[in-house]
Amino acid sequence: MGKPGKVAMMHDSKTARLNVLILTVTIALAALVGGCNLRPVESSPFPTTSPQMTPTSLPSLTATTAALQPATLIFYDGTVLTMDKTQPVAEAIALADDMILAVGSSKDILAMKGLNTQVIDLQGLTLMPGFIDTHTHILNESASDPATGNLEKAQALALKNGITTLGNLYTTQDFLSQMRTLDASGGLLVRTSLYLTYADPCGKVLGDWYKQYPPTHQPGEMLRIAGVKVFADGGSCGHPAISFDRTVGGKGDLWFTQDQLDTIVSGIDARGYQVAIHAIGDRAVDEALNAIEFALQGRPNNLRHRIEHNTTVRPDSYPRYQKLGVVATIIGNVWSCNAVFFSKGIVPDPPQYQAWNFPYRAMLEASPQAHFAWHSDYPWASTNPLFHLYSLVTPYEIAGDMSECPDPSWAGNKTLTLDEALPMMTIEGAYAMFREQEVGSLVPGKYADLIILSGNPKTDLNAIKNIQVWMTMVGGQVRWCAPGHEALCPKSPEAQNAPASSPAGPLSIRLQINTTSDWATVTLNSGGTLIDAKVLSASKETTRADMSGNQLAINQPLERASSGGSVEMIVDATLTDAQTAGQLEFSIQSGAIGSTTVKLFNPKQTVPVGTGNLAPNEESTTIKVPVARFISP
Ligand SMILES: [Zn+2]
Repeated sequence: MGKPGKVAMMHDSKTARLNVLILTVTIALAALVGGCNLRPVESSPFPTTSPQMTPTSLPSLTATTAALQPATLIFYDGTVLTMDKTQPVAEAIALADDMILAVGSSKDILAMKGLNTQVIDLQGLTLMPGFIDTHTHILNESASDPATGNLEKAQALALKNGITTLGNLYTTQDFLSQMRTLDASGGLLVRTSLYLTYADPCGKVLGDWYKQYPPTHQPGEMLRIAGVKVFADGGSCGHPAISFDRTVGGKGDLWFTQDQLDTIVSGIDARGYQVAIHAIGDRAVDEALNAIEFALQGRPNNLRHRIEHNTTVRPDSYPRYQKLGVVATIIGNVWSCNAVFFSKGIVPDPPQYQAWNFPYRAMLEASPQAHFAWHSDYPWASTNPLFHLYSLVTPYEIAGDMSECPDPSWAGNKTLTLDEALPMMTIEGAYAMFREQEVGSLVPGKYADLIILSGNPKTDLNAIKNIQVWMTMVGGQVRWCAPGHEALCPKSPEAQNAPASSPAGPLSIRLQINTTSDWATVTLNSGGTLIDAKVLSASKETTRADMSGNQLAINQPLERASSGGSVEMIVDATLTDAQTAGQLEFSIQSGAIGSTTVKLFNPKQTVPVGTGNLAPNEESTTIKVPVARFISP
């Protein structure tokens, strides 16, 4: 016990919940390990949360009292690739329900075992954060074609491939409402960031509909409205806009003039959305960089405006990614063996331009501090992250039909090292979608989004293409377990440790309601009874709150939305008649004009346990929250 424990512990987090865990773990380890010197995790090497992400702070929050919280699950005796620069490799990881509690040596982590801790022997297998695909159409594919599948199947495909967070880069109003319905029902299993479509792949402007749906930045939310997608050039429709003539497509199609794109990007930026600009050809990349520079007016790129694909890039653009803080998403697998990625009958670009294609090495060297994140762009390329990784770190490609070939000369500039590529598929992907504080690396305090692989990518680069994902976990829940490998797949910690349901005593619930409508109601449809509503604060004196029959109604009759009125009200209520293992279902309704956001809190915590957003002209939406969220500290 004299040796200092090499265990990374929860460190200073902004949320009370995490603080509870830190304190708890410190107590637990002091008791169990016998006073090893615990090394706190150094501060994250990645930029801190932007102001847009700061959780709303509430007035008059009570101090939290710590309860002893042991590890619910331990994986040990493995190779844990953390993607955390302060401790890149470990042997074991401990979880507390949906969160990571500690990462370290098998000996130190096993010392955290309590009576009810599930313990899983990795037997040397590799465990790492789930893959983050920053730009895919895996959900679009299924939603648009009910004959071939549905959203459930699409999620299963992502999870089977080890993808635990994704960016959906084509979101129409219809698709958005499908996703919100899925999320409200608890059926969204992969963390999903939506980019609302401003202009379609052919450059047709779909209008300002996105403005009804403000970006969301709630830590831990499964569904996020992340930003707005704009197509600068062809590729999906028409041809990429390049500076030289291609046999097929000539110089390609640029959908907007520089002035037009400047105006579009500035408008979206001004409303606080992250902009994701599709730019495949060098002329489009150039125009996209200019438009972002114009919108920023010298400010830092706090909204992390992205450029998608970056397939053909001119050398003078390489340093601008860093200069402007632009996030570049890049593909791994380009299916060059049968040239599916390009149009049929492709001929290589003239030799003097070939270095502009996939110039990842040169871009990294010219913009070493810039953020590069991987994307699959499925179904344009494979959804399998390990095929992409293989194609990124070796001079070989795998085609859709599993045939393999060396990178052709026109696609030969994209080879990276494993230490460059793996972060792009995890922590940098999280950065691209403002989720790096929650996922993307195995660090105490982050969500337990992790995968177990059949092999270690670091051992043999050529074997990467054969590596399989044997277990995928999102927020502590097993979402994929490969047949034959059930021993690696824990029973859900919640299911294992949850006591049988019993009546819950009176519980406190805090509601924060923000509305620009003249009235809004929050109704508890099932799961308990709301009594004793008390208004803690209201931003306007004219606002009234009435509670009757499980419904809280707020009115701001003198401040109608049409005249720009908005109100924030915080109400404390008591919940009775609930079961400890039950679920509460609330519905939100409001007047047709204006939008309404309702956040539910356990008053002992600063982070909401449930959030619902109602857009103008939407009739109602629901929030489902387990009763347990209001019980545990
Ligand atoms: Zn795409």
